[in-house]
Amino acid sequence: MLNTSVQFLKGIGEKRAESLKEVGVRTVLDLLYYFPRRYLDRSHITRIKDLREDLTTTIVGQVRLCGIAGGRKKRFVLSLQDDTGVLNCVWFNRVQYWSRIFTRGETLAVSGKVSHFGNYQIVHPDFDRLSDNGDSNFQNTGRIIPLYPSSDTLSRVGLDSRGFRRVQREALAGSVQELQETLPESLRKRQELVDLRTAISSIHFPESKMDLVAARTRLKFDELFYLELMLAYRKRSVEGANKGIEFRKVGARTRDLIASLPYELTSAQKKVLHEIRADMKQESPMNRLLQGDVGSGKTVVALVTMLMAIENGFQSALMAPTEILAEQHYLTMTEMLQGLNVAVVLLVGSQKKAEREAVLESIRSGQADVVVGTHALIQGKVDYKNLGLTVIDEQHRFGVMQRAALIEKGRTPDVLVMTATPIPRTLSMTLYGDLDVSIIDELPPGRKPIKTYWRSDKKRNEIYRFVREQVEQGEQAYIIFPLIEESEKIDLQAAVENFETMRQDVFARRTVGLLHGRMKSDEKETVMREFKNGNIDVLVSTTVIEVGVNVPNATVMVIENAERFGLPQLHQLRGRVGRGQQESYCFLVAHYPISAEGKVRLDTLTTTNDGFKIAEVDLKLRGPGEFFGTKQSGLPELKIADIVKDTELLIRAREEAFALASQDKQILDFENTTVRTHFFKKYRDKFELAKVG
Ligand code: ADP
Ligand code: MG
Repeated sequence: MLNTSVQFLKGIGEKRAESLKEVGVRTVLDLLYYFPRRYLDRSHITRIKDLREDLTTTIVGQVRLCGIAGGRKKRFVLSLQDDTGVLNCVWFNRVQYWSRIFTRGETLAVSGKVSHFGNYQIVHPDFDRLSDNGDSNFQNTGRIIPLYPSSDTLSRVGLDSRGFRRVQREALAGSVQELQETLPESLRKRQELVDLRTAISSIHFPESKMDLVAARTRLKFDELFYLELMLAYRKRSVEGANKGIEFRKVGARTRDLIASLPYELTSAQKKVLHEIRADMKQESPMNRLLQGDVGSGKTVVALVTMLMAIENGFQSALMAPTEILAEQHYLTMTEMLQGLNVAVVLLVGSQKKAEREAVLESIRSGQADVVVGTHALIQGKVDYKNLGLTVIDEQHRFGVMQRAALIEKGRTPDVLVMTATPIPRTLSMTLYGDLDVSIIDELPPGRKPIKTYWRSDKKRNEIYRFVREQVEQGEQAYIIFPLIEESEKIDLQAAVENFETMRQDVFARRTVGLLHGRMKSDEKETVMREFKNGNIDVLVSTTVIEVGVNVPNATVMVIENAERFGLPQLHQLRGRVGRGQQESYCFLVAHYPISAEGKVRLDTLTTTNDGFKIAEVDLKLRGPGEFFGTKQSGLPELKIADIVKDTELLIRAREEAFALASQDKQILDFENTTVRTHFFKKYRDKFELAKVG
């Protein structure tokens, strides 16, 4: 029964089956896994006599009267009565529609914010029908009522919460006994988890709050356990199956490089280099995530790491998310490696054919020691002579697949992934559960926090005056125009027009440069070089410079339409200044009106420079799904567990999963058929991806 179509259930016909498809429910099993969005019990409910203005709550009562009221401006009014009084519910839109929805005498739970208008009322409340079998005296029973997520399409075919309760009862009665347990009994005992059948029954119709908690815990554990199991195998398949490279030597060139730096490495940089070195000496391939806030000095760590590989006779690749960044890395690497007899090449999509061919040939022949590039590095015909190390910069911009492709290019090279997106530890453990983590937790000495101001666009002239003063003193500035997508023509046009105004008018006595994603590779390179050398004072740019760009003499950042950017992006953009010893400034120029969320973002930026705090706010604003982009991360979607809130469960699930994986050398020798069957059925495609990732 479980795998048959929902249409076989009593109460579900063709129309309902069609609508259910829209929410991903096709089989009876899918339906059983369509969980309530929330629950209603007595403790949530306020009696009408206890209402106060501005209270947001739920009231349960019977419909006494309902109908359309008002003259030209019609509204739909419904009066709801409980044992203690009457409350009005009012709708100002879709008046005809609502008049067909309700009937007198039925019992409703309505939720919303209470106002006072002669009587207590709620405008546009959320509502749920309760009046099926005996729910009408809900007030007096201790029952917990499940409320299901619905939609217009679903309500239209009667699948509102009440409709769902009916079909779920039907589905449970017929099929719950067929559910196959997915967690081994010994594990369930250890973790004190209820069995699956009980959990599924109680998640829909809990007898008590305790039941509900037990059901939710069990189902969350289930999701987290399999997620972690996947990560455990992913980690093992990278480490175990393939032999990696033992980089034995630390040679003179590595020492020379460190000695030639114009600064001393911070102790955090030394610590992470130590961790990296220890990994590289081992035969099993390194898989390490290097986390460090914007400006913490990840590039030099990458450079030293690459040189270690080179000194052991291997090539290194450095992959960056944008051409600008790849070009910049190329310039930095070339400069810093001068005199050390290391050949650095650049490979990006926009190079001319002949140039590209020459680069490809040098990679093939082994003449190139360091290959810097964009995703062009992993496309098609790049053959490495002997790739030993891959460094991936700003990993949050790469998908799992890309990472996989690059790893496959060599004979299991070591991998170092760098990111400036500071992820709370428990999260990085999940998202990068297969990676070891190193953190640069200090900035180079002498950095001053960037003074950040949120200004209306009406203040633009004042801001420009300030920028002019800074530039007169020999410092440099960025002015950023949003170009969320490089294809947004209108925005691009705006940036170009603004550039003209600045060049001819605002900064007429200075040199102004323009940079955007549509420019050719060598044009971009020229502009970047000129800016770096100080020949350009003010760089007007789109967000192509968002990540990584490093010009320490630039001290002013002006971000136009700052309200349109996300928090991490603003933090990255701002991070282009404050890279040297001088005081730096960032102006967030906002165009009104601004959404509430936009205000929180701008406010956060003006109050802190700490990437971890910013990431936390971002996580709260967007939720983990958006934060990571589940699709990009290649991880299975979580229905009920929340990797932010369910930390404690996550840790327990991880321990169990990693313990199981370490006992079991090959996934196929699972003693435990329960786990194996479920793992393969539900996670096979993800696992295939995981194996290469
Ligand atoms: P990110 O971690 O954002 O990639 P970068 O590697 O671009 O940061 O480094 C930012 C700036 O800090 C660069 O100008 C770099 O030369 C400088 N820097 C790196 N390490 C140190 C250090 N230990 N002391 C002083 N300056 C440093
Ligand atoms: Mg960087």
